[in-house]
Amino acid sequence: MRKPIVVGNWKLNGTEAANEELVSGVLSEMNALAAIDVAVCPPFVYVPQVVGLAKGTALGVGGQNCSEQSSGAFTGEVAPAMLSDVGARYVILGHSERRALYGETDEIVSEKVKAALHAGLTPILCVGETLEEREADETEAVVRQQLAAVIAGNGIKAFDRMVIAYEPVWAIGTGRTASPEQAQQVHAFIRGQLESHDAQVAQSVRIQYGGSVKPGNAAELFGQPDIDGGLIGGASLMAEDFLGICRAAADTVGNQ
Ligand code: PEP
Repeated sequence: MRKPIVVGNWKLNGTEAANEELVSGVLSEMNALAAIDVAVCPPFVYVPQVVGLAKGTALGVGGQNCSEQSSGAFTGEVAPAMLSDVGARYVILGHSERRALYGETDEIVSEKVKAALHAGLTPILCVGETLEEREADETEAVVRQQLAAVIAGNGIKAFDRMVIAYEPVWAIGTGRTASPEQAQQVHAFIRGQLESHDAQVAQSVRIQYGGSVKPGNAAELFGQPDIDGGLIGGASLMAEDFLGICRAAADTVGNQ
């Protein structure tokens, strides 16, 4: 049985005051969510603040990106060891916004995964197809290639220390969610690809779904056999919505 994991991707949102309110709302129910892992990923500058707010609780904190470099003349970059140093445990890597807006290739993402693992972080590796790719029936080919680059660069056993997030690009921030069947099909495909390398890794790796998850659609998505929680954007900015999604994930434990 894989422990579901729900992670909030705050993207480019937050102020010290708003973060405090949001985190205290989430923490008010953490005790009831012991069956799952929960984390939030604020913008870099707020990571220490949120680590401080979450101290002594089960709420994890992560970055939304990191450098593949560890130190030196890389203006504007944040090394994974710096995230670990201030108390982060996770880092989202290969998000479709990073791939599309900042030119992150599969190879760069693989390098970032290597650097993050070296720093002791748990990478949350995002994969997923665009609408054009889905309509051209290329979903599996795209996801296969995104995963293959990370397997080639890090080895299959690296996935024992990672989380995968399947995020169809056409569902991110659009209000258009993949149906539970569509999502399950790709999740099973991902697990199958890993299985062709290592059955134990395939069975134990957690694969989140991301893309317009809301309290109203979370239970059906998380009820699918290969969906192990969610990566949540917009709905992670309101404590009540985020908690509704977390509850839906916790409710699946013991039901499968
Ligand atoms: C995301 O950005 O990872 C995401 C899933 O966003 P949203 O939930 O807003 O679609």
